[in-house]
Amino acid sequence: MNLASSPRMKGLTHQQIIDFSFHKIVEEIDDYAVILLDLEGNIQNWNMGAQKMKGYSAQEILGKNFDIFYPAEDKAAHLPEKLLSQARISGKAKHEGWRVRKDGSLFYGNIVITAIHNDAREVIAFIKLTKDLTDLRNMEIKLRANEVRFHQMVMDIQDYAILLLSPDGIIENWNKGAEKIKGYTEAEIVGKSFRLFYPEKDRTEGRPEELIREATENGTARDEGWRVRKDGSVFWASVVLTALYDDRHNILGFSKVTRNLTEKKKIEDTLSRYTKELELKNKELEQFTFIASHDLQEPLNTISSFVDIIKTDFSEQFSDEVLQFLKYIHVATERMRTLVRSLLDYGRIGLNPKLESVDCNQLVASVLDDLQAAVKNAGVEVKVNSLPVIEAYPIELRSLFQNLISNAIKYRRKSVESYVIVNAERKETEWVFLVEDNGIGIDKKYFDKIFAIFYRLHRSEEFDGVGIGLAHCRKIIELHGGRLWVDSEFDKGSRFIFSIPDQNEL
Ligand code: ADP
Repeated sequence: MNLASSPRMKGLTHQQIIDFSFHKIVEEIDDYAVILLDLEGNIQNWNMGAQKMKGYSAQEILGKNFDIFYPAEDKAAHLPEKLLSQARISGKAKHEGWRVRKDGSLFYGNIVITAIHNDAREVIAFIKLTKDLTDLRNMEIKLRANEVRFHQMVMDIQDYAILLLSPDGIIENWNKGAEKIKGYTEAEIVGKSFRLFYPEKDRTEGRPEELIREATENGTARDEGWRVRKDGSVFWASVVLTALYDDRHNILGFSKVTRNLTEKKKIEDTLSRYTKELELKNKELEQFTFIASHDLQEPLNTISSFVDIIKTDFSEQFSDEVLQFLKYIHVATERMRTLVRSLLDYGRIGLNPKLESVDCNQLVASVLDDLQAAVKNAGVEVKVNSLPVIEAYPIELRSLFQNLISNAIKYRRKSVESYVIVNAERKETEWVFLVEDNGIGIDKKYFDKIFAIFYRLHRSEEFDGVGIGLAHCRKIIELHGGRLWVDSEFDKGSRFIFSIPDQNEL
């Protein structure tokens, strides 16, 4: 719209119209306080923005000195006068700081005071422009406080060495953890290269440079290895180097976090040494059991064959008593053969195990098929609850159920109606199986002993057996990474319980 054609502007000169419009604009700007001050700093004019920002109406404020907006300490320091004098001399004065509203609350203002001159270049007034930056300032203060707190926290961390490196690996700062782990004080180390921490061999091989390169290319680099302290001693370090970028993805440097894992490393090394030793011992033992039992069978075979020859070819030359002795020799030899075979079987457990998905329902059903006659003869009721499908070694697991169920049948009490229950229960990280009977039970003091090879609580005349079944079971469960134990009460019954951990579940 052409301003001059507006009815309100009629009769005004072009300059008057421009002045009027400018005046109106200034008056209505409400993001900025625009104030006209006389030479002493008294307020001559006041726009909407000023009213909104400072809380006074034009009526209340006109004629007052602009120092009314300044906190007492600024007034005491003559800041308002200084700003006016600066604007008078150099044409402009800028300042940022806290100002006071009418209600006494504070706001953070960014101000520019500009001197207005007449044609003779004399200062005749000032325009003061104020922008309210309170929100921004508060945000800045908060950010800064957070930054300071974060910095302090990093500095105080004791268990991690946290440092900043320049793009070429020069140490820029150093926290308490770094001092504790590496032994240098901040003053001793800032400005030096992080290569200092590497053993000579790593330095010669360019390991530090390799890490920097990796972090530059991938954003981070991780490493574990021996590092050297100030006193020359070494520690096992786990290091993460992270690249820090500016807005335009230029590398500013790296943050480096180092943990001292010497203790963990020592434990791991000891553990791995023990494991290796144990593996070796186990191999030796397996070999020994295998060879011993294998070789023991030879003389047994010889004894058996000669006893047979004596019996068939020379029986009429011997008295009944001698023949009875020969029978004893035969029985003892056969028992010895059984013992040797079971020892051989024990040595073979887990030699070539094959982990498979095993449906325990099917597995137990097939065991019961084999034990059909024994179950029937003993008149035992066998109850199998729903069992899971797990990842296991099927041949070994079958042998385990076979042993536990046939023991439950064998060690029944003749005086009661015998039962066997097979159950499985899901626990947090494992399946827990149970084979329970109401048989003769076991005294508490034998709970551990019965799992040892050839340990028996009964003579063969009472209960048939060689005393290796439970040792087999324990070895099988250990092979699965689980545990096997017994809970029993003498003359009441027994519960054989074993766990198979989660990784074996499908
Ligand atoms: P064996 O049955 O050949 O003697 P095991 O190693 O299977 O060998 O068992 C060791 C001993 O543990 C047995 O001699 C027996 O005394 C005891 N035992 C095992 N299972 C049971 C059970 N279900 N009830 C009572 N005693 C048991």
